[in-house]
Amino acid sequence: MFKPEKCSVPECNKTAISFRDTCFEHVDDKNRYLDELAAYMSNTSLIKDLNLTGIDFKNMDFSNNNFYVCDFRGSSFEDSDLSRISMRLCFLAFTRFSNCKLHEIDLKYTTWSGALMSDSQFSGSDLLHTNFNGIKTRECNFNDSDLYFSSFINAKMTDTTFRDCNLRKVNFCDSKRVNVDFKYSNYEEALFRTPKESQF
Ligand SMILES: [Zn+2]
Repeated sequence: MFKPEKCSVPECNKTAISFRDTCFEHVDDKNRYLDELAAYMSNTSLIKDLNLTGIDFKNMDFSNNNFYVCDFRGSSFEDSDLSRISMRLCFLAFTRFSNCKLHEIDLKYTTWSGALMSDSQFSGSDLLHTNFNGIKTRECNFNDSDLYFSSFINAKMTDTTFRDCNLRKVNFCDSKRVNVDFKYSNYEEALFRTPKESQF
């Protein structure tokens, strides 16, 4: 696991992002940084040990990239394509996704807790052992996905679909769901109440 340096701006408490000695907020030419990062990603088969926290990604193409132990906490993704990415041991807590494509992605042991997601599509994906606790979704779709052993504790989901999904051992305890569609999914194999609550 990488150990990020502190941002070089004296009064700043954030960590320096990869390839710079400051946090994203203190990067002088943000567009140039994002162009360099896009070029790096398109030339690198396994992207690992990067600190990409607090970055505003817009119209970015992450498709088909493989990420290992990367930290995206607090970053936002807008109008971006993340289709067919794979992620292992990556951190996406408190990220924001709007109007993003995440089709056929492959996740294992990643954490997205507290993420805000709107108008984003996760269909046809393997989302195994993934921590989605406390996420908020609106107009999102997880259809045709395998969510084995993932967890949505305390999640708030609105107008979100989980059609034809594997929900075995998925934990939805304490989640709030408005117009959430589990059609053709094995929701009886998911957990909606803690065992203690179920006794009453
Ligand atoms: Zn800074």
